[in-house]
Amino acid sequence: MPDFRPPVRDDLAGITAYGAPQLEVDVRLNVNENPLSPSAELARDIAANVEHAVASLNRYPDRDFLRLRQDLAEYLAGESGVYLEPEQIWAANGSNEVMAHVMAAFGGPGRRALSFPPSYSMYPEYARESFTELIEVPRAQDFTVDMAAALAAIDEHRPALVLVASPNNPSGTALPIGELTELAKAAAQVGAVLVVDEAYAEFRHSGTPSALTLLADHPNVIVTRTMSKAFAMAGARVGYAAAAPSLIDALTIVRLPYHLSAITQAVASTALAHARELQQGLDVLRIERDRLVAALRERGLTVPESDANFALFGVFDDRHAIWRALLDRGVLIRETGPAGWLRVTVGTPEENARFVAALDEVLQP
Ligand code: PMP
Repeated sequence: MPDFRPPVRDDLAGITAYGAPQLEVDVRLNVNENPLSPSAELARDIAANVEHAVASLNRYPDRDFLRLRQDLAEYLAGESGVYLEPEQIWAANGSNEVMAHVMAAFGGPGRRALSFPPSYSMYPEYARESFTELIEVPRAQDFTVDMAAALAAIDEHRPALVLVASPNNPSGTALPIGELTELAKAAAQVGAVLVVDEAYAEFRHSGTPSALTLLADHPNVIVTRTMSKAFAMAGARVGYAAAAPSLIDALTIVRLPYHLSAITQAVASTALAHARELQQGLDVLRIERDRLVAALRERGLTVPESDANFALFGVFDDRHAIWRALLDRGVLIRETGPAGWLRVTVGTPEENARFVAALDEVLQP
């Protein structure tokens, strides 16, 4: 075969694809999945509704997926007490794709986005793919956002987008609603959109308000969510956003035609109809999360307060050695975050017990 060098974009030269190792081990606690698989009833309902959708797979799906947007709005009303119209909801294949739409609509060449690392490792990639310049304002040592620095940076760099994950990945920490309000106001003053990435919102401690409560007074706020975590639907690829209709309208311009398949829409709506029973699983995981954080702290490790379904812990001189030793014992976690830290996803009670037992072996002097 003749040699062919693909004309890959100059800025992608030498870059490898993003992704955590997908290894077949007993205890997989590395990508913040929900460890609880769908119930038999949910599986049956999904199968029935997918069968119904299959009958018209010769047709393109509902391009505006109004039924799903209605179902998502109803779910958010119950979950956060915030009542939204379907016109205020958007959805796509994972919140990753929602963010790609957000960046395509509001970012772009000559525009800036601001983020607060350490944070979700995809933010630099979203910026790169949309040719948006990324300004990074580092968090403090305890992973809180340095508000003075954040407000000064918004003023100085006049970004089009401010991206903040709350609860944050990989630290698990949530921003107080007062700080999110300040960020929303500062962003509005320079004409920027504030994107609050609430991928882990359902795991927050009770009494912590969602950024959805900002929407009524702050027309420049977009809240993104996902069904990958709380709904245990990572395999279905459904993420969504809530915002003022004018922001949602901008997202419809950049989406690809019929981006959300009829199968995806059917699966998502069915899972939403089961939201209440899924909530029970969430309650278990939140208790397990608090237990896991306590167990790590009892072992003398530092763990930021987690409002998510994972915990960051450290600090190790050689985190790779710890990660490897856990893997040798059948437990896969994530080597991520600042040097010296490791991240573990909350699993089932049995998986968490196996992780803690393995860690005790590894940490033995
Ligand atoms: N935001 C954050 C902070 C995440 O950690 C993740 C997943 N790891 C996502 C968004 C994307 O989730 P998904 O595309 O599965 O909805």
